[in-house]
Amino acid sequence: MESSDRYNLIVVGLGCAGLSVAHYFSTQMEGAKILGLEKNSISGDLGTSSLGHSRLFNYTPGFPLRNEMYEDSKKMWKEIEEKTQTEILHYTTLLYLGRPDWRLIKDAKKEIPEEEFLSPEKISEMYPAFENIPEDYTGFHIEDAGIIKSKVALQVYTDMCQEQDIELKYNTTVTKISKNEVQTEDGAIYNADHVVVATGPFTGEHFEHEDEEFVSMEQEFYEFGDKEGLPTMFQEDSEFGSMLGCLDNEDLLQYKVSRHGDINRTDAEAWIRHRIPSKAEDILKNSQIFQARWCFRKGKHFVYETKNGVHYTYGFRGNGFFYMPLHGKVVFDTLLKKGPLKYALI
Ligand SMILES: Cc1cc2nc3c(=O)[nH]c(=O)nc-3n(C[C@H](O)[C@H](O)[C@H](O)COP(=O)(O)OP(=O)(O)OC[C@H]3O[C@@H](n4cnc5c(N)ncnc54)[C@H](O)[C@@H]3O)c2cc1C
Repeated sequence: MESSDRYNLIVVGLGCAGLSVAHYFSTQMEGAKILGLEKNSISGDLGTSSLGHSRLFNYTPGFPLRNEMYEDSKKMWKEIEEKTQTEILHYTTLLYLGRPDWRLIKDAKKEIPEEEFLSPEKISEMYPAFENIPEDYTGFHIEDAGIIKSKVALQVYTDMCQEQDIELKYNTTVTKISKNEVQTEDGAIYNADHVVVATGPFTGEHFEHEDEEFVSMEQEFYEFGDKEGLPTMFQEDSEFGSMLGCLDNEDLLQYKVSRHGDINRTDAEAWIRHRIPSKAEDILKNSQIFQARWCFRKGKHFVYETKNGVHYTYGFRGNGFFYMPLHGKVVFDTLLKKGPLKYALI
């Protein structure tokens, strides 16, 4: 079953990366015919990387390239917010805590004055729900940080794609892909000048892209209502793994905590019992646990690469959402301008 129409671009997967690619191309190629194909009924569905209402963003001390991307992305988000009159970035401070010999703290020490570092007592005083902070911990606030309203962002991008007359097909699973051709499970075949695969953590599974460098793993987060005494947003690197938390839900009235990395519910629960004991029973009994998935390529973040003429964008691990507007731009620059791959394979 061959579709007679030829597209300028087909994007497979409509999570944060795919929507960004589809939209950015449409703004750069007037009149381009663009098709987006998504296996689920919505972007950011259960089990995908873009699931949920909120994501964190923050300036990262000691990471110049990341911060260059950070500034570029912030600018692009601002333009989108102004154009759509929608708040997507909700600025608030991020509390970072951990041991002084850990990388982020070591790097921060080079930039942040000593007096801005917080003792464990001070952290507990400011955020009374946080208890049992080890004596050798330190912490600091990153002021240039906030929450991305990820669900809002996906909706805004979907609307912008529709305004650009991009054809978005949901409930459509792609089963076969090559340089200029894509086949869906109902047997339809679509042709295009360019095919971009933005299937995120499913990249290996679908397109024989699996190799030992590519890792895709399940992640979980606990969503609950009682946020009294908790920081608006935090990251802690501890013996339980990297724990993150922030306000959540449409109106940011809920809270969520997640353990990032190899999924391990025992460690996440141990952290909850230890660090926020006054709420632990309620969280562990009543919170909703959501499953998402992310992927990365060992030693790399943000992979934009071409294999056998097919273009792939994936591997953002726990950092990709904030850079949503940039994904489309980088893929476009890589593909059509063949310019310097400033952010590729960092
Ligand atoms: C728990 C968690 C916490 C995170 N925290 C942060 C954070 O604080 N800050 C931040 O910036 N980022 C964060 N991230 C990372 C960010 O969310 C991801 O990098 C981003 O969502 C990746 O989007 P994606 O489009 O690559 O993947 P996805 O959102 O998974 O999109 C891929 C899409 O492809 C579709 N698909 C797959 N196979 C097919 C097929 N065969 N045919 C058609 N469609 C297909 C899927 O259904 C899916 O919709 C976090 C991620 C997770 C999981």
